[in-house]
Amino acid sequence: MTINSSIIISAADHGIAVQQLCPHATEVVRRLQEEGYEAYIVGGSVRDLVLGKVPKDYDVATDAIPEEVKTVFPRCRLIGRRFRLAHVRMHGTLIEVATFRGPQVSDDDDHKHKNGRILRDNVWGTLEEDAVRRDFTINALFLDPVRTEIMDFVGGYPDLMDRKLRLIGDPRTRYREDPVRLLRAARFIAKLGVEPDEETAAPMTEMASLLHDIPPARLFEEVCKLFMTGHASQTWPALQRFQLTRALFPVLERDGEPGQARAGKLLLKALANTDERIANDKPVTPAFLLAAIMWEPVRARADELQADGLNEYAALGEAADEVMSQQVQRTAIPRRFSVVTRQIWTMQPRFRNTRGRRAKSLLQERRFRAAYDFLLLRAEQDTSLQGLCDHWTEAQKGVELNTGQRRSDDRRGNDSRRRPPRRGRRRRAPGTAK
Ligand code: ATP
Ligand code: MG
Repeated sequence: MTINSSIIISAADHGIAVQQLCPHATEVVRRLQEEGYEAYIVGGSVRDLVLGKVPKDYDVATDAIPEEVKTVFPRCRLIGRRFRLAHVRMHGTLIEVATFRGPQVSDDDDHKHKNGRILRDNVWGTLEEDAVRRDFTINALFLDPVRTEIMDFVGGYPDLMDRKLRLIGDPRTRYREDPVRLLRAARFIAKLGVEPDEETAAPMTEMASLLHDIPPARLFEEVCKLFMTGHASQTWPALQRFQLTRALFPVLERDGEPGQARAGKLLLKALANTDERIANDKPVTPAFLLAAIMWEPVRARADELQADGLNEYAALGEAADEVMSQQVQRTAIPRRFSVVTRQIWTMQPRFRNTRGRRAKSLLQERRFRAAYDFLLLRAEQDTSLQGLCDHWTEAQKGVELNTGQRRSDDRRGNDSRRRPPRRGRRRRAPGTAK
């Protein structure tokens, strides 16, 4: 593709003050420049700064190849195979330093393709080439923190002013090269309130099935970025708009409206809760959100299995396994999360045992709090569960009084990191043997 000459936007126009920048990112750029390399802050951080938002992390682009970056920062780590880059740690802050990439021309090992999809992207290029290999124009702005100038080769700055999301180059080709750009488009629409231009939006729905070819581990990473960064509520409708939810969560396909994934009140409430917790700096875990996303198909399948004669616990355990194994073919779910998700589900029927030893042992389960929070979510959709919720809310107060144990408000089910102390012998729920 032809490359436009760059437009330089001066500090007087972009209005970003040096003090707003992460000093460590500035330091990385300065050190590279002092060694004679070109270096810029680039990508989402420049975009967010122009929009007046605080960037969540900083990326640096340079003409130094990774080995050269390593000589400037001997303690940095070179990572990635598909996309090799350097992780530079500066006073505890991680800065990703990537070498300028060139155009995709060859099919050698550094630049592998398959049916138009880029499998490896390690061919170095110039600054201008690096600008056009980026995904959206608003992500291709280069900020020199020393000169405080922004370089724009692709019209990203005016697009940002107009809140326009525009893929660089031919959209179909760019989605085919890397279908994850479809998810990134939905994420930016939700997070930044930008609107895709017609050519960027038009092929999205039709190309959604390309996501089937993306390695499940990469899709899991994207799911975390989509739902665990504080914009989950807006992200869901953005994904639905282009039928991307179905491509991500095939288990939601059944019974959905045509083209749409099924999403009940419980799921939407879980997304809103997650956003709220992030806004309040409380920890969140994908295990809880995944439990909410897949609950409907698990419950529906458990009903079928029960109708076939399995008892309630066995049916739920079996349904959990079936749905999970269907889902992990699309998005990986690391075991540390899937185990918790399954426990949240299989503890649900146990909440009906409100008396005696069983009730006591439930309260002492390590995942009690997560499962209880999930019960509260279910009650949002099914008000008949409110009585049970009240019972277990009271029961926990009883435990606190009896044991002098304090459960802080922060210890919510979304938090898998903090564990309530386990007391007594742990009992396994019937039908959850694994
Ligand atoms: P976020 O705010 O989520 O970090 P970001 O745009 O910074 O958004 P990153 O994944 O951190 O996203 O990527 C940094 C930059 O690398 C992007 O701004 C973009 O220029 C480029 N980039 C990332 N992923 C792709 C991709 N799949 N195709 C082309 N360019 C990409
Ligand atoms: Mg980023």
